[in-house]
Amino acid sequence: MNSHRIVLHFSNDVTNQPIIYTLCQKYNLICSIIKASIEPNQEGYVALEISGEDKNYDQALEYLKEMKIRVEDFKRRIIRNEEKCTDCGACVGFCPTGALAIDIDTRKISFNDSKCVACSLCTRACPFKAMQTNF
Ligand code: SF4
Ligand code: SF4
Repeated sequence: MNSHRIVLHFSNDVTNQPIIYTLCQKYNLICSIIKASIEPNQEGYVALEISGEDKNYDQALEYLKEMKIRVEDFKRRIIRNEEKCTDCGACVGFCPTGALAIDIDTRKISFNDSKCVACSLCTRACPFKAMQTNF
């Protein structure tokens, strides 16, 4: 059994269809919704973690293609909103990779995107919601 993190992009004419139900029931996949934005008759998306047998997953992808649902790899990215950041430093101790650091001289916080593994610990630690998850 393998798991995949993907984003399904729905056009406005398929948001009323039981797509997730079909993935679970027909293809025997376990679907955990990470994030979703779906309104009837509007474009929307669902970010999912899907687990199951490779054969079933491949068949499910074919089904999604037939339903004209665009499938993308789920890429979560963390961004820092500099306008909201007060350089309080509360996030730095939570960062396991050193992506967030404090400059000893200036007391300013720096964010090195290339070291970030998108664990989201800083988004929970920041009292000003300056660290944000982007999809
Ligand atoms: S998401 Fe994790 S790795 Fe990235 S800056 Fe925040 S705490 Fe550090
Ligand atoms: S916790 Fe938030 S406000 Fe404080 S330094 Fe980190 S990002 Fe900036």
